[in-house]
Amino acid sequence: MKGLVYHGPGEKSWENVPDPSIVNDTDALVRIDSTTICGTDLHVLKGDVETAEPGRVLGHEAVGTIVEVGAGTRTVKEGDRVMLACISACGRCRYCRVGNFGQCEHEEGGWVLGNTVDGLQAEYARIPFADNSVHSVPDSLTDEQVIYLTDILSTGMEVGVLKGNVQPGDTVAIVGAGPVGLSTVLTARLYSPASIVAIDLSEARQEFARQFGADEAIGPDEAMSRIAELTNGLGADVAIEAVGVPETLQLCTELVRPGGRVANIGVHGRPVELHFETLWYKGITITTGIPDTRVIPQLLKAIQAGTLDPTPFTTHRYALDEMMEAYDTFERSAETNALKMVLAPGS
Ligand code: ZN
Ligand code: ZN
Repeated sequence: MKGLVYHGPGEKSWENVPDPSIVNDTDALVRIDSTTICGTDLHVLKGDVETAEPGRVLGHEAVGTIVEVGAGTRTVKEGDRVMLACISACGRCRYCRVGNFGQCEHEEGGWVLGNTVDGLQAEYARIPFADNSVHSVPDSLTDEQVIYLTDILSTGMEVGVLKGNVQPGDTVAIVGAGPVGLSTVLTARLYSPASIVAIDLSEARQEFARQFGADEAIGPDEAMSRIAELTNGLGADVAIEAVGVPETLQLCTELVRPGGRVANIGVHGRPVELHFETLWYKGITITTGIPDTRVIPQLLKAIQAGTLDPTPFTTHRYALDEMMEAYDTFERSAETNALKMVLAPGS
């Protein structure tokens, strides 16, 4: 089969790789019907993710059809159309027992797909702990309606909105309006905040943020004064970081009010200096994390009910074997205005 293989920092190719097969009896094999590219894949390609070794097939967001199941599986069966969550869950460890699947202690649990286990930018994939790690797709929904649940929407809601504890009436500042920042805009809306202010350097991304439901979208230079105006000088109730560089996390700590919450989502590749000499008395909560993907069933119902529509994320569509061209478009998103691309066999 074909897959997108990481060959060390800066090197990748769409090439023939061995067909996957069942290794553990809790595995399932899946034919990939739709897959997409994530900013995290670019971090792997830069060499930022030490656990991802050269030779790895990348990708952790897809919809597919089960073609074979291991003897130890109970709920998945051949022919099932499923979402493949970016997080795999053994279901038995201390973290899985409390729904904290992202921290699963098993060597094939947590974020393993496209990291320590071959991923989903391929024609087929082996899915560890399939019973606990895939979600059925209702017949009434298309792949494109559900594919973004597998990572970005779960991440925006769990790591941004829920860890930031967005409440009705809050003023919410979201720093970064890429796909994850926009997922945070979409899912923060579900909690009826008074105001969502998206902050991004790019005017194109500011425009996306308005389309996705931000009340205002502004550049970082205006952020302090505008948030002060909206909050009688207090600061935002919640500031959510969706970029992953020191400056944006520092900005969040400046935008938030005393007693407020800063939720970091961004993937950081270098140390961040936080000014605790001015923060120490403000009683601010700072959270970090990766998703558990446990909100997938809840958000799926919102999509079915029509209260959440993730389809505007898809800005580009490619055939699966146009993978290299799709990466090129995604990597040049500042010029191409790419948010997410859907790649499907034969499309
Ligand atoms: Zn992702
Ligand atoms: Zn576990």
